[in-house]
Amino acid sequence: MSRIAFIGLGNMGAGMAARQAAAGHQVQAFDLSGLAVERAVQSGCMAAGSAAKAAEGAELVITMLPAGAHVRQVLTEAVLPGVSKSALLIDCSTIDVDSARALAAEARDAGVSFADAPVSGGIAAAEAGTLTFMVGCEEARFPDVQAALKPMAKAVVHAGEAGAGQAAKICNNMVLGISMLGVCEAFALAERLGLKPDKVFDIVSQSSGQCWSISSYCPWPGVGPASPSDRGYEGGFLTKLMLKDLKLAQAAAAAAGAATPMGAQAEGLYAMFDRLGYGDKDFSGVLQLMRGHLDELDAEARGGR
Ligand code: NAD
Repeated sequence: MSRIAFIGLGNMGAGMAARQAAAGHQVQAFDLSGLAVERAVQSGCMAAGSAAKAAEGAELVITMLPAGAHVRQVLTEAVLPGVSKSALLIDCSTIDVDSARALAAEARDAGVSFADAPVSGGIAAAEAGTLTFMVGCEEARFPDVQAALKPMAKAVVHAGEAGAGQAAKICNNMVLGISMLGVCEAFALAERLGLKPDKVFDIVSQSSGQCWSISSYCPWPGVGPASPSDRGYEGGFLTKLMLKDLKLAQAAAAAAGAATPMGAQAEGLYAMFDRLGYGDKDFSGVLQLMRGHLDELDAEARGGR
């Protein structure tokens, strides 16, 4: 049994902390929201009064926070000043590559190990312990990171040195954001050409246009395996989170001098969908924007389908 500090108990962190507690670890949990801490206690964690208190005497500190600024503040101001030198810090949030690298350097200066380990998989995978982790850390430290993440993971992949986990995450999500738009555009065109959506699914998912966005997460309701489109685009991967990841990808591309015109287009389209008021819908709902049928999303929001 290890003593773990878990900081950030939101949609993702709640399930992840519960998995660590279920694996028999002593989990000191902290969140700015008292309600989130109460929920964590109900799932087997112990309440800590602050991030610094949670980290006191911890062998492992896990953060699952909204963005780079939150992780920097928590690790720099609350965790690093008092944490044990033998502790391992793992940030599982999706943040900018520069923040991840800066935190790794800061931790190294303080004599503490740090890994960036963002995840693929949503709330259901966090609760089931089936997330995929993409890890940036020194190769020699990877086995420890892998063992620490095991109760929450389906797979733990070493992407490279510090920041590489975040780099892998934004590249993956840029592919996902772009491929979903391609699938949605194709469905919108097929509709105009008089093709039935189930036929589009049957053909494309067995042809060269096949990709996860159509085969496993079809944006057209009632077609293909169960996905958020079948429940009014509720749950799943929220448009505002996809937009966040695409913004991170564009910022990284600008800093690195990479040309990512498709990523830029994708960012613009999800930004438009978000500004129209659909940031809390699954990102595959962008299909209805392409079809010119945003009314379908509103009907679903009112329980009209
Ligand atoms: P969330 O907003 O539900 O949870 C974040 C939690 O952090 C909140 O409970 C908030 O109160 C807490 N928090 C903020 N500042 C804090 C501080 N200073 N100290 C302690 N707690 C603080 O977000 P989420 O959906 O759980 O996502 C967390 C991270 O995981 C994000 O970086 C997100 O991009 C990434 N992610 C989310 C999903 C998803 O499907 N939700 C999937 C993959 C990755």
